[in-house]
Amino acid sequence: MATSSIASPLLRPSMLLISICTAALGLTACETDSTEAASLQADSIQSASVQSDSAQTITENTSSSDSSVTLNHSASAMSMRGMPTSQYLVGSGKADITGAAAETGMFGYASGQVVQGINDRLYSHAFIIGEADKNDGKRVVYVSADMGAMFTAVKLEVIKRLQKYYGELYNDDNVMLTTTHTHVGNAGYSHQQLYQIASTDDTLSGYSSQNFNAIVNGIVTSIKRAHDTLTPGTLSLAQGELKGATLNRSEFAYNNNVDAKDFDSNVNQTMTQLRLNAADGTPVGLINWFALHPTSFSNQFMHLSADNKGFAQRGAEKIFAGKSGKPFVAAFANADEGDVLAAGGNANSKPGYQGSDNEWENVSRDGQLQLDKAIELWNRGVPVAGPVDVRARWVDLKGYQVDGKFTNGAGNKVLCMPARGYSFAAGGENGPSNIPGMYEGMTRENFRINDDINKVDQSFLGSLTRGAFGIVSTVSQDDCQAEKQVLLPTGSWGWINTQQPVQLMRIGNIALVAIPGEPTTMVGRRMRAAVLAQLKDSGVDTVIINGLANNYSGYLSTREEFATQHYEGASTEYGPYQAAAYIQEYTQLAEALRDGIEVYDSATPPDRSGKSFSERPGVVFDDKPLNQSWGQTLTQPKASYQKGQVATAVFRGAHPKNNLRTEDSFLKVQRFENGQWVDYLSDSDFETTYTWKREGAAYSKAIIDWRIGNDTPAGTYRLTHQGDWKSGWTRKIKPYSGVSNSFSVQ
Ligand SMILES: [Zn+2]
Repeated sequence: MATSSIASPLLRPSMLLISICTAALGLTACETDSTEAASLQADSIQSASVQSDSAQTITENTSSSDSSVTLNHSASAMSMRGMPTSQYLVGSGKADITGAAAETGMFGYASGQVVQGINDRLYSHAFIIGEADKNDGKRVVYVSADMGAMFTAVKLEVIKRLQKYYGELYNDDNVMLTTTHTHVGNAGYSHQQLYQIASTDDTLSGYSSQNFNAIVNGIVTSIKRAHDTLTPGTLSLAQGELKGATLNRSEFAYNNNVDAKDFDSNVNQTMTQLRLNAADGTPVGLINWFALHPTSFSNQFMHLSADNKGFAQRGAEKIFAGKSGKPFVAAFANADEGDVLAAGGNANSKPGYQGSDNEWENVSRDGQLQLDKAIELWNRGVPVAGPVDVRARWVDLKGYQVDGKFTNGAGNKVLCMPARGYSFAAGGENGPSNIPGMYEGMTRENFRINDDINKVDQSFLGSLTRGAFGIVSTVSQDDCQAEKQVLLPTGSWGWINTQQPVQLMRIGNIALVAIPGEPTTMVGRRMRAAVLAQLKDSGVDTVIINGLANNYSGYLSTREEFATQHYEGASTEYGPYQAAAYIQEYTQLAEALRDGIEVYDSATPPDRSGKSFSERPGVVFDDKPLNQSWGQTLTQPKASYQKGQVATAVFRGAHPKNNLRTEDSFLKVQRFENGQWVDYLSDSDFETTYTWKREGAAYSKAIIDWRIGNDTPAGTYRLTHQGDWKSGWTRKIKPYSGVSNSFSVQ
C-alpha cells in the first residue's frame, strides 16, 4: 500500500484491514504405482528413477521432523500392494469464476486495489470421489477455487443450487469448498461486513452481486461437470519435500512455541499430491496441497490472476492432460499457510523479503517450483485404499468452551468475542501497510513502551492513528483477549459471523481437514497429530490440512504465537485459545468418523441472501468518438518482435462489466498457419494481459499485451480484442471485436 493513500487523516476502515489474510508429513511416497505406470500420458516428463531411490527416501523420511505421520504412512504403503484397481468413482470438472474485470475491489491485501483487467482467468476446480463398490456408496465433493477466501454466503448458495439438480446427493456436509488464497482475485462476494470493507474499491463499494454470481455459477458448473464425468477409477497419493521455496514470515512468533526447536523447519515443506485415474489408467485430475501465500503478485498489481497456484495449475493441465482428449483438471490447493510466504518475495514486500521488480518473474518462479515438484511426484503415488466418509457441523465460536485437555495445562477456557489486534493493521511481510505507528508485536504490555522507543512511531500520522483507534481500543479492551491490544472489536460490532463450519473428510487412508481460516505451520502440525491420533488405528495414515475452506474466521495461531501479537496472532480473532478450540472440534469429528456416529450442528449458519448490500452502480452506457468504430485499433503493434519482448495493441473498447465473457476471452493472440488464423493464446494464459482504461466520461480503451515467451514458435501473429458495448439509447448490449495488423515473431 502506498504511503500516499494514507495522507488523509481520515483513515478508511479498509486501510486497517491490511491483508485480511495478508506439515508434518515428511514423506516422499516411495514406490511406483504399478497399476498406472503403463498408462501415463505425460510422455514428455522425465521421471526420476523412482524404484531405485525408494529405499533411501524412506530412510530420509523417517528422520524427518514429523515422524509420527511418516512412520505410519510408510508401513501402510507397504500393505497396500495388490489393491483392486477400480475402487472409487472419480470425476473432475473446471469452470470459469472470473468476475468483473474493472472497477471492483480485489480481495486479499485490502490495500485499495481496484481491478483494471485480467492477467489470467480464475477457475473453480472440482473433484468428486465416491465409493464405487457399493450401490449407494458415499461421495465427497472437493473444490479448490482461485479466490482469496471462501465465505458462508457462497457455500450456502452453491448448496442450494446443487440441490435443485441432485437433491440431497450433494449437501453442506459432503461438499468442501476451498480457495487458493490468491490476493489478486475478485472481491465483494462476502455477506459479512468486515470482508465487504476489506473488498472496497475506490468508491468504497464493498459488494458486487456480479462477482458473487460469477463465483457461485462457476463453482456449481465445475461440480456438475465433475458429476457428469464420474467413472470408476483409482486414486494414488504421493508426498515429497519442496525445500527452500518458502519461509516463515513470523519467525519471532514461531520461535515462541515451546516445541519450536523440535522441528528442522519452521514451515511445512511437504507437498501432497492426490492423483485421480479412470479405471483404464487415463488421468482424470490431480489435487496438490502445498502451504504458501499466493502473494507473488504484489499489492500494486491490478490485474486478476490466480497467482503462483494458477501458474502451476495451467502448467500441470497442459502436461498431464495427455492425448486422451478427456478432461483433466489440476488443482494446486493451499494447506497450513498462515505464516508461510514464497521465499522469493514479491515486488512490494518489506525490505529483506523483496523479490524481482518484475511482477511476472516472481509468479512464474514460485509457480514453476511447485509445478516441478508436482511433476516429480506424478509417478510416485501409492494406491489409496479405504472407505469414503465425512463428518461436518456448524459451531458457534462465541462463548465456545474449550476443555482443559486441549489447553496444555491452562485449564478449561471460553473463547472471546472476536476482535483484531493492533498488529493486524501492520500487515504481513508480503503486503506491509506502511501505516506509521503500526508494527508487529504490539501487545497490551509493551504498547506504551514501544510507543516511546519505536522511531517510526514518532511521526505525526503514527500518533494520529493511535489517537483515533486508541479511543476504540480503550472502550473495547477485553481481558479475555490476553496479550492482544484490541483495535477492531469485530464481534461486538457484528462485522463477522461467529458461526463456523468444521468438516473432516476421509478418502481411503487420507483424512482431509477443512479449516475455515488460516492455520500457522505449528497449528497445522498439532492439528494433524490430534486427528491422526484418533484415526490411525482405523487405517488413516495421512492427514492433510486445507485452510481457507468453507468460510473464513481469520488466522489461527498457537497460544504461544498469540502471545507475541505478530500479524497472525493479532488476526486470531477469538483469542488465545482459538486454535485449541478448533483442535477440540476436529478431534471430536475424527472420533465420530472412527466410531461411525453422527455429529450435530450446534449453530445455524446465517443466511443473508435476501439482504441487499451497497453496490457500485453498473455501467450506464458506453461511448466512443464519432469517427471511430467499436474495436478499432488505436495503436498497432510493431512489425516484428523478438522472443522476450512485449507485443502491444490498443483498441477502442467498452466496459468489461457489460459481459464477463465467462469461458470466453477479451483477447486472442492468433497465429497464421496453413493459410488461416488460428487461436494461440487467450486471456486465461499467463503471457497475456487485458487492461481496461477509462478515457473521459464514457470512453474505454482496451490494451492487449503479449509477453512473448521464449518457447514461442517463430511466425506471423496478430492480437485481437473482443468486448460488448452498451447503448445509451436502447440499453442493449452488443458484441464487437477488433483485430490488429499482423507482425512477425523471430
Ligand atoms: Zn493469508
